[in-house]
Amino acid sequence: MPHTRAYGTPAASQPLAPLAIERRAVGPHDVRIDILYCGVCHSDLHTARNEWGNTLYPSVPGHEIVGTVTAVGDKVAKFKPGDTVGVGCMVDSCQHCASCADGEEQYCENGFTGTYNGRGKENTWGGYSENIVVNEKFVLRIAHAAEQLAAVAPLLCAGITTYSPLRHWGAGPGKKVGIVGLGGLGHMGVKLAHAMGAHVVLFTTSPGKQADAKRLGADEVVISKDPAQMALHAGSFDFILNTVAAPHDLDAFLTLLKRDGTMCLVGAPATPHPSPTVFNLILKRRQLAGSLIGGVRETQEMLEFCAKHGIVSDIEMIAMKDVNEAYERMLKGDVKYRFVIDMATLKHEAKAA
Ligand code: NAP
Ligand code: ZN
Repeated sequence: MPHTRAYGTPAASQPLAPLAIERRAVGPHDVRIDILYCGVCHSDLHTARNEWGNTLYPSVPGHEIVGTVTAVGDKVAKFKPGDTVGVGCMVDSCQHCASCADGEEQYCENGFTGTYNGRGKENTWGGYSENIVVNEKFVLRIAHAAEQLAAVAPLLCAGITTYSPLRHWGAGPGKKVGIVGLGGLGHMGVKLAHAMGAHVVLFTTSPGKQADAKRLGADEVVISKDPAQMALHAGSFDFILNTVAAPHDLDAFLTLLKRDGTMCLVGAPATPHPSPTVFNLILKRRQLAGSLIGGVRETQEMLEFCAKHGIVSDIEMIAMKDVNEAYERMLKGDVKYRFVIDMATLKHEAKAA
């Protein structure tokens, strides 16, 4: 098996650098994909730096993958060489538990296998690499135009992670929906909630993002650090999707929900949020919830929804060697609004050993 060029890290304290990995041979149900573009998710940073305490090293992040099929196993019917495809956060699941049967593989009761840091028998390596081999059940069809493919990559995580809860909690006409944080997930949340027909309010800590938020589809923008602006929205939201990657005061947002409103957390900070005040929940039967990416079927649905509505991510393309700097900029909120790695640049950086 030839080595595959990749970019990753041997330890939490080390920057990402070239390394060589091995991909499995193409099995009967497998698809081999040459990776064209890979988005940079904040989860990549959490994992590379072991912020969730569960990283297996060496770690090769990347779960917003778009590429071209180069080989398929003899039982594969859905794909053929030359097809443009995507891979998101999962590459396998048990396929027989109740969640898998419902098409909610992300909640697989036996644990899905992550595209990187997989919890299967051995580690898995993600999209910061020249190719990947994936079971066809976890490969997505891409209908967008060829020139949009780099901006499609972030849909595979940021897109589905916001689409799924927006659908689950019924974002649509007549609903007032808040999106907290204008980063990779948040900017997709704004675009998707707008396309679903909701009245969209973006909460940001960054006054400089106000004009962008409106351009992306927000009807209103609130600076969440300003209590007077926040107070104007008290008790008015049907649903709030919170994408913030750091611990913060959840009560400031819970008090903005109507009776029976829900705030769903998708941001996954390394340390806990301060505990919310119980009375804010019980007095209006408010709900605090969470949501994890989305299943394969819903990810395909999201890609088709985005193709139909002309939705892609707003991206800044980077070379592979710039990923460490991109992580630092992401921590400062200095990304509009998703970094995507042009994987052709990996060839100049990483040598197949
Ligand atoms: P990102 O691009 O870094 O965006 C996070 C945004 O949160 C920032 O742009 C900023 O927006 C806001 N923010 C950051 N620090 C803040 C602070 N201290 N206080 C208030 N707001 C702050 O990250 P991302 O890629 O969108 O990911 C966001 C989180 O979702 C990460 O924790 C990631 O691991 C998690 N995630 C979860 C799932 C899931 O399935 N649940 C999937 C993917 C990612 P403003 O400048 O607008 O305030
Ligand atoms: Zn992600």
